[in-house]
Amino acid sequence: MDEATASFLRKTYREYYFNNPDSVELPTNIEEREFGYIPFDGSMIRHLAFANSGELIAELVRQAPSSVYCSNARYSHPRLPMEEKGWTGADLIFDIDADSIPTLCKSRHNRWYCRNCRKEGRVPRPAACPYCHEANPIEVRWTCLECLNATREHAHKLIDFLRRDFGVSEMKIRTYFSGSRGYHVQVQDERFNPLNSQSRAEIANYIRGEGVLLPKSRTSSTTQHEEYGWSERVRLFASTTAEQTGRKGARDSQRLAKVLQMNAAMIDQSVTTDIHRVFRMPGTVHGNSGLLKMRVTSLDDFDPTVDPVILQDERVRVYIEYSPQFQLKGEQFGPYNSTLTDLPMYAAVFLLTKGLAKIS
Ligand SMILES: [Zn+2]
Ligand SMILES: [Zn+2]
Repeated sequence: MDEATASFLRKTYREYYFNNPDSVELPTNIEEREFGYIPFDGSMIRHLAFANSGELIAELVRQAPSSVYCSNARYSHPRLPMEEKGWTGADLIFDIDADSIPTLCKSRHNRWYCRNCRKEGRVPRPAACPYCHEANPIEVRWTCLECLNATREHAHKLIDFLRRDFGVSEMKIRTYFSGSRGYHVQVQDERFNPLNSQSRAEIANYIRGEGVLLPKSRTSSTTQHEEYGWSERVRLFASTTAEQTGRKGARDSQRLAKVLQMNAAMIDQSVTTDIHRVFRMPGTVHGNSGLLKMRVTSLDDFDPTVDPVILQDERVRVYIEYSPQFQLKGEQFGPYNSTLTDLPMYAAVFLLTKGLAKIS
């Protein structure tokens, strides 16, 4: 990223935090959390701590970082090196990323392009440009509304597990749009806070449907109370298809695969099991999109191409190296290839933060 672009982005993010200090959603027990951030021109800075919201907001305005993170864990001494922090517990968190959900649209919008001759094509990216033989064309992995809708379905499935299988009340589940490619879910239920990484892995595996087996076929002695969780999901599925096909007990593995596909939530296991993670902070601007990581009160009513757009409409002149088509605030942009144009600030920042455009 060139200095003019980095400086423009810092100014934009700084103004946002200065004008919208209430946008930042503070964690519980702020003084026990570890904070971190990534500057626009540098690498991650961690092991920060703030005594109160005023200190934190002042730092965001001063640094205007690309991304801001906060630990899901609580520590006695959050500033100290990891082994001396004194871990006292961590919220249970989940990340569902569009990149890990297979959608058909990916073959259409995940592209490569050549910086040298400007030609482009579908992934997989060739080792060298087939037109000019320049090595290592750029791969652009995109997330469209279809990808985000698929991701939202997995957020629904995750919440269903949390409520029905783990007994978490709706009040204690906080759902967020990540600001870029998916959804984050945070459970504020103290029962989970002491769990170590291994126990969290078991929860994650369960929700991902790993190791699920078909229950033994029902005998007359099976009673209703034995069926819950995955067994119940398998039985419900079996009872609907048995009527349709009239065949019982046939093609078990196919049936199981179907039940898994319908019910398992493709959460990122590594996020849930990491009890020392700093996680993107709610109410902060995403460093790869300029969109807000924001609380979602109704997944079905939330529009990820409209609601998290928080930057203004004033026009900004940018040179766009390359971009697939995208939609923000109801307007279509692109596709672009070597284009000099004026874009609304929010669309310009969307491309600038991805390194696909620069201030001109
Ligand atoms: Zn080329
Ligand atoms: Zn897509």
